[in-house]
Amino acid sequence: MIYADNAATTKICDSAFEKMLPFLREQYGNASSQYSLGAKAKRAVEEARKKIAAAIGAESLEITFTSGGSEANSWAIRCFAETYRNKPVHIITSAIEHHSVRNTCHALEQNGIDVTWLPVKTTGLVDAADVEAAIKPHTKLVSIMLANNEISTIQPIEEIGRLLKDKNIVLHTDAVQAVGHIPVDVKALQIDFLTASAHKFNGAKGTGILYKRSGLGISPLIFGGEQERGLRAGTENVAGIVAAGYAIEESAGMMSDEAKRLCEMVEITIRGVKEKIPSVRVNGDTASRLPGIINLGFCDVSGEALVHLLDLKGICVSASAACTSGRDEPTHVLLALGQNEQQAKSAIRISYGRYNTMDEAAVIASAICDAYAKIKANL
Ligand SMILES: *Cc1c(COP(=O)(O)O)cnc(C)c1O
Repeated sequence: MIYADNAATTKICDSAFEKMLPFLREQYGNASSQYSLGAKAKRAVEEARKKIAAAIGAESLEITFTSGGSEANSWAIRCFAETYRNKPVHIITSAIEHHSVRNTCHALEQNGIDVTWLPVKTTGLVDAADVEAAIKPHTKLVSIMLANNEISTIQPIEEIGRLLKDKNIVLHTDAVQAVGHIPVDVKALQIDFLTASAHKFNGAKGTGILYKRSGLGISPLIFGGEQERGLRAGTENVAGIVAAGYAIEESAGMMSDEAKRLCEMVEITIRGVKEKIPSVRVNGDTASRLPGIINLGFCDVSGEALVHLLDLKGICVSASAACTSGRDEPTHVLLALGQNEQQAKSAIRISYGRYNTMDEAAVIASAICDAYAKIKANL
């Protein structure tokens, strides 16, 4: 099998796996318990919090653990908007956000909150000038992702952060695809809320992270005990949190070498496909992009058919519509780039990660060409 769908999820790295195991068996204490078994769990959670904070230039107190990226996104946006109970609230977001941001904003919109959906350029880039132009007197929140999960475009968050700085508007960024893969510094980017998820950087599934700049208010996501400073009640997922700490440490340590390697794999893939299918389109921005994700559009064949044929050869990639799969709808991301329905349905996403090799990149390129030829022959 060749797994090239790391934007969907990653395999847990050895250090994270080994360090989390004891917390499921020998040291299974509840982090809130008074005896030493509980204290040990608590200490491990706080150590992990420190590692996560250090990786994004934050303080430990600014990190809250959740069950995942979706939970953190949904919480930040919904509960922040709720703090304005009786006042008008305007939120600015983009047309290419992950569903956890998109559907949260849709739900708020249905409850009467004013939402602006910013268009993007054909490369997927948000124009910071558009953010500025969309600001209204009651704008309270801007939520724009750091890097897109389908086309990998990296948004000009630093520029957006700079222009919001003195306007008393809070900036949230979904950094799930960025953290652990490219340098992220919440202070340099002037971010107020940031979302990350451990299973996207070789941690375990079920552990998300919400960074909240200290001093900023938000209502609790889950009411109950005093876990996570009363903001997110419930017994901590100690093992998952421990794994997240080790996973981020390992990712940070190899980040720049990994980025170079992944970029090369992407180049090999694009070159290999272009050689036989010159009409292939590389979706997204060519300069401002994540190292390991490529989205290829084929115009005249369906992405889902390609994914299926590749699967038969043991290759895991995704049709761009990963999160809407089963609904046969083109992804909102490619439509927002100005592509038509057929173009949007012809795309596949290949996302390389820690455990992929250069050889695999070449194998995937030729498998894509074979699958494409096969589908064309049967048309
Ligand atoms: C995967 C992903 C999420 C959701 O994270 P989960 O931990 O799977 O809930 C949110 N945003 C982006 C950009 C993602 O890629």
